[in-house]
Amino acid sequence: MPDPVHLDPAEDDDEEAASAPEVLEELARLHLRAVALPLPRNPATFGWQAIAGALAAFAAQLLHHVNAKDELAGTYFAEVYRGPLGAGPDPLAVGRWLEQSIARPAGADLDAWAADAQDGAEKASADAAGPAEVSELGTLLGPDVLSVLMTGLGASWKAWEEEGDPYRRCIVPGCRERLNIVEAMGGEGGGEGWKMSTAVGYACPSHVRKLWEGDRPHVPLWRHNPAGASASFSELTCSCGWASGIVAFRGHGTTLYQAHTLLYTAEEA
Ligand SMILES: [Zn+2]
Ligand SMILES: [Zn+2]
Repeated sequence: MPDPVHLDPAEDDDEEAASAPEVLEELARLHLRAVALPLPRNPATFGWQAIAGALAAFAAQLLHHVNAKDELAGTYFAEVYRGPLGAGPDPLAVGRWLEQSIARPAGADLDAWAADAQDGAEKASADAAGPAEVSELGTLLGPDVLSVLMTGLGASWKAWEEEGDPYRRCIVPGCRERLNIVEAMGGEGGGEGWKMSTAVGYACPSHVRKLWEGDRPHVPLWRHNPAGASASFSELTCSCGWASGIVAFRGHGTTLYQAHTLLYTAEEA
């Protein structure tokens, strides 16, 4: 290979190397698994799974092309790949390869890219704990992924058109506001000010202001099996200090949180 740094598998790797046809089959199956229904509901998990599916298809086409032109090169790349849990090439060697082959020729600094990645990871971790803007979820997922999401929700476009319910209600009991998530996530508008919490669901702009913004917000977060707890411990907590207590069903915790919100969403509140 003409690479500045040769990406050999890790030295302590005594696993037998895979052939190009074996890696091609693994990539094909990985792509099919990533797009198989049902898709995960968590937007971040969904987004990364969609990316994994696209990369598996991309890598399969590259490896197939290389292997057809030059079987030695195909075998080399197949040996480097070990799958997500395999030993793979040494991460330090990958870093050096990225630096020499991609970052430096582009006149960029790999350390700056790594710092950007670190910022993204920390921001995602902080964002995951709180409610997200519905209109931004559509931007994050993009039009291609949105079509996959719609398929996941409705099993097929036909079923979606005939039976799919695009409306989601505000979680506050008695609130009559509703959101068309297809229009909102597709960038057609209507979702301004709405937020989605992976813990409890959607809230309308007025209830977002009353519950999830301001000086004393009521941001819900599930706690599962904290250290020292019995094996099946789940409770819904609120950033104000309220907690549901141990619940057996997710819907039970959500209902208790909905009752909790009534204390803070009355007209005079
Ligand atoms: Zn509402
Ligand atoms: Zn609260």
